[in-house]
Amino acid sequence: MLPETGQSSAYGASKENNSLLSCPLFAPKRKPNNINQECVEPRVLNCIATIRGMSTAQSIGACIYCDKTDVNLTDEHITPYAFGNVTGDILHDASCTSCAAITSSFELTMLRENFLPIRSVLQMPSRSKKAYGSVKQTVQYKDGTTKEIDVPHDKYLGQFGLPIFQPPSYFNADFTKRLPVIDELQTFNIGNVANRKWYEDQGIEQQLVHHIKSNKGQAYVRFIMKIAYCAAVKFEGYEVVKDSPVRNLILGDDDHFAVYFGNLEDNQFTEPPQNNSVMRYAVASLDNSNKKLVAVQFFPFMEESPIYHTVV
Ligand SMILES: [Zn+2]
Repeated sequence: MLPETGQSSAYGASKENNSLLSCPLFAPKRKPNNINQECVEPRVLNCIATIRGMSTAQSIGACIYCDKTDVNLTDEHITPYAFGNVTGDILHDASCTSCAAITSSFELTMLRENFLPIRSVLQMPSRSKKAYGSVKQTVQYKDGTTKEIDVPHDKYLGQFGLPIFQPPSYFNADFTKRLPVIDELQTFNIGNVANRKWYEDQGIEQQLVHHIKSNKGQAYVRFIMKIAYCAAVKFEGYEVVKDSPVRNLILGDDDHFAVYFGNLEDNQFTEPPQNNSVMRYAVASLDNSNKKLVAVQFFPFMEESPIYHTVV
C-alpha cells in the first residue's frame, strides 16, 4: 500500500518487517550483535566521493581481481555505468576478460532486475539503445489475485525496498559467518503519485514492494563489494589492497560474505550528499589494522537510504 502524500514525486521512507519477506534471506528482525570493543573499531568516514565530484582517472595495468598483467585488460567503472556515466570514476586497464565476465554477470542481474524500477523512474543511463519502455511490477487486484504486469515507466508508482543487514562479523572477530542476514527492509516510494489513478482504473488495489529476490541476495552483496573494492583501489592504491579477502568473494571463490559485509549504524557520511548524485562512497582506514572500511550508499537523496559497509 502506498501512503497518501501531496507531493508529486515521493521519496518517503519506511522500515518494514512485513509478510512479504517470507524468503529465507529475510530473517526476523533482531538486534545487531554488540560490537566487541576489544576488536578493530570502525572509524568515522571522512573521505567523501560522489559521482559528480570525481575528476581523476587512474591506469592500473593489472587485473585488480586476479593480478594478471599479460592479458587483455578492460576499464573498470567504480560507479556502475548504468548509475551514471562519470568522468574520472574509472580504473583504466584494471580487469581481465574472465574476471570481467564474472563481475558483469552479477552486475547485470542487479541492474536489470533489482534496480530496474528506480533506474527507469529516474531515467538513468542505459547501454541499451531503446529507452526504458515498461517495468515489471507485481500488483494485487481488488479481488485479491496478484499478478506481475508491465507498467509503462511514466505510469510507475510503487515501493522499492533496500535491505539492511547485520553488521560485518569481522567486528566481532567471527570469521565463520557466510550469507549476511537481513534485519529489515527499508522501503521508498518511487514514481509520481498522480499515477495512482492509472492503477485504480485497472482495478489494482495495491503494488507489492519491489526488492531483491531471495536467490539473488548473494549477487546484491557482490555488487556492492565490487564497488567498495574498486573504491579502495582508487583511494588506497592497488598494491595496498590487492591481498584483500573480498576479491575471492567478488569472484565467487568464497562465500563468507557476512564476515566482511553489512550495515553499521554508527558510520555515517560526514557530509551531505551532492545534488543529483545517485551513489556515493567513502573509504576510511581501520585502526589497529591494515584493512579499509568502505561505505557505499545508493540514492543518497532518499532519506535513510541504507549505508552498506565492506571491510576491504
Ligand atoms: Zn582477472
